[in-house]
Parts: sequence; C-alpha cells; structure tokens
Amino acid sequence: MLDILALTKERNPGEPEFHQAAEEVIASVKPVLDKHEKYRKHKVIERMLEPERMISFRVTWLDDNGEVQINRGYRVQMNSAIGPYKGGIRFHPSVYPGILKFLAFEQTFKNALTGLPMGGGKGGSDFNPKGKSDREVMHFCQNFFTELTRHVGRRTDVPAGDIGVGGREIGYMYGIHKKLTNEHTGILTGKGVGWGGSLMRTEATGYGLIYFAQNMLGTRNDSMEGKTCVVSGSGNVAQHAIEKIVQLGGKPVSVSDSSGFIYDEEGIDKDKLAYIKDLKNYRRGRIREYIEKYPGASYMETKSAAESNPLWDIKADCAFPCATQNELNEKDAQNLVNNGIMLVGEGANMPLTADAMHVVISNGLLYSPGKASNAGGVATSGIEMMQNYIGNYWTAGEVDKRLQGIMKNIHQNCLEAAESHGLDGNYAAGANIAGFIKVADAMIDQGIV
Ligand code: GLU
Repeated sequence: MLDILALTKERNPGEPEFHQAAEEVIASVKPVLDKHEKYRKHKVIERMLEPERMISFRVTWLDDNGEVQINRGYRVQMNSAIGPYKGGIRFHPSVYPGILKFLAFEQTFKNALTGLPMGGGKGGSDFNPKGKSDREVMHFCQNFFTELTRHVGRRTDVPAGDIGVGGREIGYMYGIHKKLTNEHTGILTGKGVGWGGSLMRTEATGYGLIYFAQNMLGTRNDSMEGKTCVVSGSGNVAQHAIEKIVQLGGKPVSVSDSSGFIYDEEGIDKDKLAYIKDLKNYRRGRIREYIEKYPGASYMETKSAAESNPLWDIKADCAFPCATQNELNEKDAQNLVNNGIMLVGEGANMPLTADAMHVVISNGLLYSPGKASNAGGVATSGIEMMQNYIGNYWTAGEVDKRLQGIMKNIHQNCLEAAESHGLDGNYAAGANIAGFIKVADAMIDQGIV
C-alpha cells in the first residue's frame, strides 16, 4: 500500500494536494484491496491515479490596455470508466497541474457516488478574473475555449463551473463553442436557464450540502432547526448553503472571502443574503463592504493559511467550509472540537487538511467529505445533461426532488460502505470505498485499456 503512495509521489513530484487526496483514498480502500484480489491484480488504484489524458495549452489574450497577456490552460481527463469526463473549470492564480489532478481524482469518486453515469475530469487556468473587466473576461474565455473545443463533447467531456467560473464565464465559453462548431448541444453544464440550463443548478451544491447535513443529523434524531452555523466562502456554494440553512430554520452567522470574514451574530437572513448575492455576483465587490450596510456585524482580516483562522473559533453548532482546499487546519479543527461543534460538512473540495480531518473524526463529530456532501452540484449537472438529451425541461420542484433523493442515497451508501468494513459512521472512508468499488468494477469489466 505504502508502495502505491510512494510511487504516486515519485511520479508526481511537487504536487502536495494530489498526494494528499491520493493518500486519503489509498488508506480508505486498503481493506477493500486486502479482501478482493481482483482489485490488486488489475492494479485498479494505480491506474486511477494516472490521468487518462492531460491537455495543457497556451491562452493568449489582450487586456484593456492593449497589452498581450499569456496564461496556461489545462484539462485533466482523469477517468471515463462510468461515463464521459465530467467536472468543473477553475480560474484562479493557484491553478497548476497538481491542483487539477487532485480535483479530477476527487471528482471521479464524487461523480460515481451520485449514481449517474459520469466520469471524472477537471480543468482550468491560472488566469485571475479578480479585477478584470467584462470584456477582458469574455476575451479570455473565448480564447481558452477555442482550444478546449476540440477536446469536449456531450459524450466525451462535459465541463462546468468551479472557483472563478460562474454563469457569465459559462455563457462566454458556450457562445464561442457554438460559433466554432455550429452546434447547440450540451457540452457544458451550468448554462443559463432558457438556453439549455437546468433550473436549480445554481442552488444545487449549497442546497445539497445542507440536505446531506440534515441526513447526518437525522441519524441522531436531530435537524437543522435552531442550529447556529459558521460558513466560509461567499460564492455560489456558500450563498446557497446559507439560503437553505435559513429555509430550514437554522442561523448562519458568517461569510468570508480571500481577504477576511464577516461575523454577524444576529444571523444572516434572507435580506442580508440578497445583499451578499448582489455584492459578489453582480458588483463583484469584497465581503468587507457588508459592515457598511450592516454595522452590527464585524469584519476581520484573515492572516496566512498556516495560522489558525478565528472564523473557525466562532461559537456554533455546525461548520460548513465552502471556500477552498486546505482552508481549515489542525488548530482550527481543535477549536471546532473545543467549542462543541457537532457537525462539519464540506462544501468545498478538500477544505480540511489531513490533520484537521483526523482531529474531527477522532473526536466523534459528524463529518462529511466534499466528495459526498458537495456532490449535489455535479449531480444536478447530470440532471441538466439528461434534460439536454431528451430536449425536455423539468420544474424547479422536480429537480429539487431528484436532488434530495440523490443526497439521501449518497448518505446511505457512504454509511453502508463504511459499516460493511467495520468503520461505522465514518463518511470519509465510506465515500471513498463506495466510489472506488463502482469505478473499479467498471474498469475491470472494460479490460486493460
Ligand atoms: N465544480 C463542481 C464540483 O466540484 C461542479 C462540477 C460539474 O458540475 O461538473 O463538483
């Protein structure tokens, strides 16, 4: 087992996020490999850790000063055993192959957990959309997707949004793809409702996260009602997690961005959330502006990632990290435990460091890994693909019902997979085992390819 990890590190030097994601999965599936010779014989986990294909390309574009800018674009096509590659596109200065490999690897398991036929992929660029004009973003998206167009297809690879890529960027990428191919097909998800998008896709990741939390609380005969919730991030996932918490009678008290966080002890209600949505989605401002509108709240700047973040020291019942990978470290996790937090639900991908995860699990908190609890987004992308195929569109109520059913199934499958390996209540191990078995069996069925 150790050999697989050592080999992964050797073959992918300087990619700590990928090593972290690999290590966690390798440790979880060990009992499965020990029990079933076929997975060892077919070297399934070793094959899963090697992307089927990786594309890297140059993206050149002109900024508003007429200056030529150069970025790198990527697509990692990780695993297509159970369906076309599927996963988001991230635009952020931190993007490099190691981040995308970790995300594409996680995505493979996540997509398998949804029960829908979707393989795993992820793409992106080190382009930073922050502070860029609409025209610059459009020009970048067009040049990025001009290259990617030849690699996508509704039965090949279907990208979507992620950090830095929302409805605006999906629109620009879809527009250029349509022009280049003269085809209006569902090669991206997260499209605008009215031109092939699904109702509820925008809400799905955040809503799904809270549905998953409800299911976890249900195992202790508890619910979201009356729960004070600390939430990080202020993008799509955080916004809709907050919305659902409010709808279910809970009290979200925080939001953050990369500069700092807001603590609103009175709770973020519907009106305050509408302000946040307008600030982040349309005015594209910073979260610190919240206190100008709501002076009862406080704002604190966040320091380096190595220190503990006072956001995770807020007294609450539940914690929902919805910002980015490794945003919550061991010290933060200890603060959660000391403050009596009962549930940690990951909205982002791998927001807890490996040490933080250990602290949370060993202290008996209800803990859900992102690949299970944030799967509602990609599940609804799958539902968008279905609607594109049949050319018929469902109501928000219908989509929401399917989403709730999928989150319930994922929750159940994680619990059962964990239990059947003597790891009762360990959702992290359960998600890895359930996702692994599904993909591994498909790979074995399809032979050595
Ligand atoms: N980027 C999202 C994720 O991490 C959504 C991917 C998709 O809808 O394809 O799952």
